[in-house]
Order: sequence, then structure tokens, then C-alpha cells
Amino acid sequence: MSKVLIIGAGGVGNVVARKCARVPEVFSDIMLASRTLEKCEQIAQAVGGDRIKTAQVDADNIPELVTLINKFKPDMVINVALPYQDLTIMDACLETRTHYLDTANYEPRDVAKFEYSWQWAYHDRYREAGIMAILGCGFDPGVTGVFTAYAAKHYFDEIHTLDIVDCNAGEHGEAFATNFNPEINIREITQNGRYWENGRWVETRPLEIHKAIEYPDIGARESYLLYQEELESLVKNFPSLKRARFWMTFGQQYLTYLTVLQDVGMTSIKPINFKGMDIVPLEFLKAVLPEPSALGEGYRGQTSIGCQIRGVKDGEPRTYYIWNNCDHAEAYRDVKAQAVSFTTGVPAMIGAMMGLAGKWAGKGVFNVEEFDPDPFMAELPRYGLPWHERVDEPLPVEK
Ligand code: NDP
Repeated sequence: MSKVLIIGAGGVGNVVARKCARVPEVFSDIMLASRTLEKCEQIAQAVGGDRIKTAQVDADNIPELVTLINKFKPDMVINVALPYQDLTIMDACLETRTHYLDTANYEPRDVAKFEYSWQWAYHDRYREAGIMAILGCGFDPGVTGVFTAYAAKHYFDEIHTLDIVDCNAGEHGEAFATNFNPEINIREITQNGRYWENGRWVETRPLEIHKAIEYPDIGARESYLLYQEELESLVKNFPSLKRARFWMTFGQQYLTYLTVLQDVGMTSIKPINFKGMDIVPLEFLKAVLPEPSALGEGYRGQTSIGCQIRGVKDGEPRTYYIWNNCDHAEAYRDVKAQAVSFTTGVPAMIGAMMGLAGKWAGKGVFNVEEFDPDPFMAELPRYGLPWHERVDEPLPVEK
């Protein structure tokens, strides 16, 4: 029986709220707070039965957050607002001694750069306060870290290479849209790529390296090497890794639109003056694009996200591939969301469950792969994310 405060009523927040509401034995009391109260109320009404309380909060404002936390007294805050709010929410949790969980690492607004240093710097203060922060508990980061920990625990003595492969083979029918917050998504894709090899980071131009990779039940899709935050924590927590890469698929139409938007300056995060007002082109673009939460209805096809690993077991080379496929239409039937919000929100709910039930315990700041993967893996299929594995077969990423 625990109280949980969910911050952010967007695509992912909707999934977390609806999923938590169906597990009253763990989440007995739920509050959903966001910048726009109306969005929280819509979700609460759809769930019904007064299961979800709502509140308006500006998560950039620490005193406002502290007041809300002191009033509701949650055991844990689930942050599914934007990466910009990670530190203010972590500060408010520290001040009120409340556990914290998020799905994306902190990013400053004025630099498109993600790294864990800012959040890892809270470790000692969280430990001294006797509270726990669970970082990056969506799908990627999130389940991919748990998959890696599960592989390392059960299938390998040492893991040597890791390829995280993320495919969205869905069709939403819009000319151009992003599956999670457009601002964060475009910042991520338009920055340089990076991967880990032989003890150092290798930098690439944006989307420079790409190839077709085969995905289960989907087929071959062009996949692009990107830098994604979990690479940083995984190479730290699995120092035997000689190479770690992250691949994501993009359709040709998406890339063509993105190139045009970039070429005309619409993806820039440098403010420009427009009719006497400073505006950030990317923030303006976000305002005219469809919201991720609006893409669910009519979305068809599947996502497929997994980890392809090479290493050794009992002195013999071994390969291992573990993945989940998620169907957009099924996700919509379940929680009125598309699969990208679904595959992020369900792991956030399960991670919160792990923390509140003491199955994941600790004082300080942790990435998901530092905990025991087994209880989390056991819950994934129960809440709509079944996983599959192949052992000692050729890895699709290496073909
Ligand atoms: P959305 O844009 O749909 O939702 C974000 C929500 O946060 C909005 O409702 C927004 O409010 C609210 N918000 C923004 N700023 C504030 C603020 N200052 N105070 C209070 N609320 C605020 O994004 P998504 O739901 O798609 O993404 C949510 C998070 O999940 C992001 O951090 C994203 O990076 C992460 N993510 C992680 C993934 C993973 O696998 N790990 C995958 C996909 C997403 P308003 O509606 O008023 O603008």
C-alpha cells in the first residue's frame, strides 16, 4: 500500500497513471500532477472511480514541488515530465526525503547534450537522506539495461559487445510526427552519434553510420547509429564491454522532413527574435506538431526493441538476443496510447513497484541495471511487455 505522485500528463504519463490505477494493492493512492491541470483531469476521468487525484504544478519550480509533496506525502515521485525537470524534481525529493524515479536523463535546455553526471552527483546526498533514485526506467533507457543485466546474470561469464536495436515499424498516418516529446526527440537525433569501442567514445556525424538490420516479425529496416544515454551507464556498470552501440530505425519520409526542417533552421535551439519576442525555433515547431499522446488512434504496426550481446560462457563464445515486440493497436486498446508511450510507461510503473515493494532497494542514485533483473523481468509480460530470447544463433546486427 503506497502513495505515488506522477509528474507529467503527456503520452507516457497517461500510461503510467492508467497502469498504476489497475494495481491498487501496490499503488493505493495516486496523484497525477502536470503543468496543464486539464490534461490530468482528462486522464483521471477516463480512469474513473476517483482513483486518481490531480494537481497543477510547475516542475521547474522547487518550492512549488516541495509544497505539493508535503501536502500529498507520496512514498515515491515518478517523473515523466521532460528531462529539463529532472534536477528540480530530484531536489524536491531530496528536501522531502521521497524516493524518485524517471525515464530520461537530465538535459539542460540550452545545450543538446545528455549525460548522467548531473544526476549521479546526487548519489551521496540521496544516500545520506536514506532515499533512492531510480534513473532511466522506461524502455531505452530502462528495459534495455535490465535485459543486459539479465543476460550477464544468466547467460554469460563476461559480456564483450552490446548492440541495442530499436525499431518502430508503425504507421500513424501523419506526414511528420515524433513518437515522444518532439523537442527531446529531435534534439536527440540531430546531435552527433557516439559509440563505445576499446575503452573510448568514438564520435560520428549525425546519422552517419547506418545499415539494414532484421527485426523479428517485421523484417529488415534501415537502422542508424545514435548516441543514447544508457550506453554511458552500461559501459560503467559492465566494464568488460569492449563495444557498445545503439541503433534506431527511421523511415525515409521522416528523414526527408527532418532534413528540410533542419536546413531551414526550424530545429535550432538558439533563440531568435520574432516580432520583438525571443522564441526558440524547436519549441515553436513542437507547438505545431501532433502531441505524442494524440498519435494512438489508428496507429498500426509494431515496435521491436532488444539487446544483441556477444561474450563468453564457460570459456566458449556465446551470442544472445533478447527483445520485446509491441503492437501499437493493442497498446491503444489497453491504455489509449501508442506503443512508444506504452513501452516507456509500463516499465516506469514496474520500476516503481520494484522500489516500493523493496525488491529494488538501496540508498543513493542507481541505474536500473544495478538491481536484480529477475523480479522486474517476471512482471514485464504480466503488464503487456512479453519478451523473447535466442541463444547461440547469429546476431542480426552482425549480418
Ligand atoms: P509529452 O510531451 O507527451 O509529455 C510531457 C508532459 O510533461 C506534458 O504533459 C507536459 O505538460 C509536462 N511538463 C512539461 N514541462 C513541465 C513542467 N515544467 N511542469 C510540469 N509538467 C511539465 O512527452 P512524453 O510523455 O512522450 O515523454 C515524457 C518523458 O518520457 C520524456 O522525458 C521523454 O524523454 C521520456 N521518454 C523516455 C523513453 C524511454 O524509453 N526511456 C521513451 C519515450 C519518452 P504540458 O502538457 O502542459 O506541456
